[in-house]
Amino acid sequence: ATESNRIAAGEVVERPASAVKELLENALDAGSSRITIAVADGGKTLIRVTDDGHGIPQSELSLALSRHATSKLDGDDLVNIRSFGFRGEALPSIGAVARLRLSSRVAGDEAWEVAVNGGVLSTPTPCSLRGGTVVEVRDLFYATPARLKFLRTDRAELQAISEVVKRLSLSAPSVAITLRDVSGGGEGRVIYSAERGDPAARMEAVLGRDFRANAIEINAERQGITMTGFAALPTYSRGAAVAQFLFVNGRPVRDKVLTGALRGAYADFLSRDRHPAVCLFLTCPPEEVDVNVHPAKTEVRFREPALARGLIVSGLRHALAEAGH
Ligand code: ADP
Ligand code: MG
Repeated sequence: ATESNRIAAGEVVERPASAVKELLENALDAGSSRITIAVADGGKTLIRVTDDGHGIPQSELSLALSRHATSKLDGDDLVNIRSFGFRGEALPSIGAVARLRLSSRVAGDEAWEVAVNGGVLSTPTPCSLRGGTVVEVRDLFYATPARLKFLRTDRAELQAISEVVKRLSLSAPSVAITLRDVSGGGEGRVIYSAERGDPAARMEAVLGRDFRANAIEINAERQGITMTGFAALPTYSRGAAVAQFLFVNGRPVRDKVLTGALRGAYADFLSRDRHPAVCLFLTCPPEEVDVNVHPAKTEVRFREPALARGLIVSGLRHALAEAGH
């Protein structure tokens, strides 16, 4: 890999969890119904994502690993993106700083694989695979020792991976998703597993039965923006654990305007340092919101932030009042 490739890679892939996020998004974009993620040593030595999606044709395997070759950005199309991917940066970036193997099979064709080692691409060779795609990333950052040094303990990196998987899994309840820690070899240990189900079942898989039992269902609408999901009753506490899951048009986001609105909605109940537990999905016409900004973060910019804020504050207050709070 060239030096500039490796530097650019660092913007997309900061740590194992960011690689997992990109690979999981790709698997979801491929229309998979079952996705398995296996990691070893906090994702530092191994990340393997196996899906049963539509696969990649042999003719496109090498392209998928070439920088910007698959970019779906085209002028002002940014706002109309429906899938997670669009930059065509993730696989090439990971390939620049790790050993990557990509095997895939589309219906009606044979299975093929390509490997990239230190940024150098192999030619596709036949392999054995029933269908879908397997992306195997070994020795992340072996090519960039400086970054390797900044990684935290295996335990902390695994924790970050688990959070990324759970967050994304909330936006795809109809996809079965499993995360395993295979550090010790063999089948490994299940860290997280969710079967296909409805949004409520998925939310319970991620946030727990206790949250489900202490949350109210949210269904609100204001001028073309809808808000659905679940919000904890003010009497419910998760202690120090922050459990705020916010999605805009299916994409997990972290955003000051939205978290500020949440605090506003619960202002009468919570002390300033507590965070209400919620899992909320905002949906609006794509032209009302810009979800992109930076590869590693997911920020949103509403054309009318006051509208989103108003919906959250009034929608939640109303629902809490109806529930007797
Ligand atoms: P992006 O997702 O932004 O398009 P990526 O580098 O993440 O860029 O992936 C490059 C391309 O490789 C994708 O556009 C997609 O066509 C293909 N691809 C990657 N992962 C998968 C997968 N699991 N299943 C099917 N196609 C995939
Ligand atoms: Mg992608």
